[in-house]
Amino acid sequence: MVAAGAPKSGWRIPNMLWGVRLSILGHAGSYGAPGAQCSSYLVSCERTHLLLDIGNGSFSNLGRTIMPGELSGVFISHRHHDHLADLISLYHYLSFVPGARMHPIPLFASAETLEAISRLVVEDFGGILVPRAVESGDCLDLGQVEVTFASTEHIPGTLAAKVTDPRGTSMAYTADTGPSQSLASFFHGVDLLLGESTWLTRPDSAPAGLHLDAGELAELATRSEAKRLVVTHVAYPGNAAAAARLVQSRHQGEVLAAFDGLVVEF
Ligand SMILES: [Zn+2]
Ligand SMILES: [Zn+2]
Repeated sequence: MVAAGAPKSGWRIPNMLWGVRLSILGHAGSYGAPGAQCSSYLVSCERTHLLLDIGNGSFSNLGRTIMPGELSGVFISHRHHDHLADLISLYHYLSFVPGARMHPIPLFASAETLEAISRLVVEDFGGILVPRAVESGDCLDLGQVEVTFASTEHIPGTLAAKVTDPRGTSMAYTADTGPSQSLASFFHGVDLLLGESTWLTRPDSAPAGLHLDAGELAELATRSEAKRLVVTHVAYPGNAAAAARLVQSRHQGEVLAAFDGLVVEF
C-alpha cells in the first residue's frame, strides 16, 4: 500500500494556465528495470489530467505529479499487464486511503479490455472507477480536452489515443502497435507523438507486426509529420536513449528519449 499524504518529490508542478503537459511515469516495455517502470503517461491541460495506461510499477510515480484522486480519467489501451497492472494499485489506493477519493474517475477502454480488467481488479468498481467502453472512431470531451481513439496493429485489440486541447494543440500515443498506414493518418500533424519502439532492431525471432522497432517508428513519425517524437516502450535490454538515436538517424523532426520523470510542455 502506498502511504497517504502529499507527494514529496520535486516532480509536482503547478497547474498550467495554457498548453499541454506530458509527464512520463513509466516507459519500459513488457517489464520494468531499476528506474524504468512500465508504460504510463500523464497528459495535463489546466486542471484536466488524463492518464494513458498504468503499467506495472508506474503508480509509484503518479503521486510525484498529482494526487491520484485528482485524475480526470484513465485510459487503458489494451489488456497486457505492462499497460494496466498498476490499475490494481490505483484502485486500492482510492478505496482504502482516507481522503484519497475526490470523485468517480472514468475508466476508458474497449469493451474487451474492460471485461479483462473487471476479472483482474474487482467485478464491481464501487463507483470509484467508472468503466466507459470506447472504440475506434469515438470522440469524447474530458474537461479541457477532446480525446479520440483508433485501432492499432497489435494482439489483443488495442486502441491508440489522440488528445487535443482548446487551442488545437495535440498529442498522440501509439500504445502497442506494428506498422500501420491508418495510424499514420490518425496521427497526422500532431504536435507530439509518443511512440513505441519495443526493439532497437526487430529480432529475427519476432513475429511480423505487433510492435515497432526504431526504424519502423521513424517511418511512422515521418509519415505522420509529427512535430516532435518521444520514444518509449523500449524493452530491456534496449534503452530509450539508444532507440531515440536510431530513430533520429532516420527522421528529420525532433526526437526525445522517454525516461521516468521526463516532463514535456507544448
Ligand atoms: Zn506493451
Ligand atoms: Zn501489448
